[in-house]
Amino acid sequence: MMFSYATHLSCPKCGAIYGIDRVNQLCRCGSPLLARYDLEALRKTWKRDDMRGRPNHLWRYHELLPVRQPAHVVSLGEGMTPLLPLPQLGKDMAISRLLMKDEGVIPTGTFKARGAAVGVSKAKELGVKELAMPTNGNAGAAWSLYAARAGIQCHVVMPVDAPMITRNECAISGAHLSLVDGLISDAGHIVAQGIKELHWYDASTLKEPYRIEGKKTMGLEIAEQLEWNLPDVIIYPTGGGVGLIGIYKALSELRDLGWVRDQLPRLVSVQAEGCAPIAKAWEEKKQTSDFWNDASTVAFGINVPKALGDFLVLDAIYRTAGCALAVDDHSILQEQKRIAQMEGAFVCPEGAAAFVAARRLRQNGWIKEGETVVVLNTGAGIKYPDTVRTNPPLLQPGEPLPVFQSGDPQPLKPS
Ligand SMILES: *Cc1c(COP(=O)(O)O)cnc(C)c1O
Ligand SMILES: [Zn+2]
Repeated sequence: MMFSYATHLSCPKCGAIYGIDRVNQLCRCGSPLLARYDLEALRKTWKRDDMRGRPNHLWRYHELLPVRQPAHVVSLGEGMTPLLPLPQLGKDMAISRLLMKDEGVIPTGTFKARGAAVGVSKAKELGVKELAMPTNGNAGAAWSLYAARAGIQCHVVMPVDAPMITRNECAISGAHLSLVDGLISDAGHIVAQGIKELHWYDASTLKEPYRIEGKKTMGLEIAEQLEWNLPDVIIYPTGGGVGLIGIYKALSELRDLGWVRDQLPRLVSVQAEGCAPIAKAWEEKKQTSDFWNDASTVAFGINVPKALGDFLVLDAIYRTAGCALAVDDHSILQEQKRIAQMEGAFVCPEGAAAFVAARRLRQNGWIKEGETVVVLNTGAGIKYPDTVRTNPPLLQPGEPLPVFQSGDPQPLKPS
């Protein structure tokens, strides 16, 4: 067995083919490139049972990842996050089997670690010394830390409003960090200019083909954790859409290997009402999205006004008979609180948005009685402390414990 069965990169738009052993970014036609594997050969030699006893991180799927040499793997132990049943919340939503894929318990606190682990490893394998990227915070944090481990210099530009902790993660790992008084799209223009002049590796979302390979391991894990019986629905909070495209790619590869059934889960893309280009495009039955003006939401990781891979996200939704919808910030914060109080899980606002979508889709009958629903919580709530405001009483030493009404939660109001 080889470590990786990666063969080449191919363009999902024009079909052009590129090598996987040298630096390639976008296709000549402007489309992202996707990594391809020798699934024929793998189908003959690789069996589901071979997965038993492998280490509990995403490199357990190394055959379906693009890194050729084990020595190039840069890992902080990421992957194999819990697929947690949420019985109370499920009951509250009338979803009989509700599962949360919890990405809050991964290095750097968001699933961006998966993309960074595989993206940085492959960059190292390709001999990259400096890379640059725009970010809404979490990706920059993850790439900075993994790049530090790989000995690669990282340049990051993020909006001034991005969660404060992500700045600190970039700074402490020695990345060169700049802020922009604007959106991730503005950060993108600045990075593009820098790359043109300084010839750094462009690690922007989907401008290098390997971040998606890391994110696809969420799909591989969901399948394996359900013993290769796919759920009916997978719900994903969508910004650049890489996770959703990745999950679709993973499940398609597993299907081609004969490891899962032909009918894939219905994929649901969730956005915030303040930034919903994909949801709008889906409603209008379009193949691509339009730039969303004045984008704004508490769910910062999905505040992406125009995604380079929008056509791939929409394609995955159409092909799986999925759907896309937008939810409002107030509902997101309410749901976040409900999940903490019912299940003890402090999810990030993006994850909470996906749960709001689950509730709505069950209410309107799109999710049917008895279906198995997997919701992605893409990160830890503790990375966004400002979404919660508390005002507990301040006691002097010796003062008696105040009496709370039973079932009365701490006063808590969204910011
Ligand atoms: C980046 C991010 C998302 C969106 O991920 P995409 O794959 O780019 O759509 C969702 N949630 C969190 C917490 C994120 O950091
Ligand atoms: Zn092309």
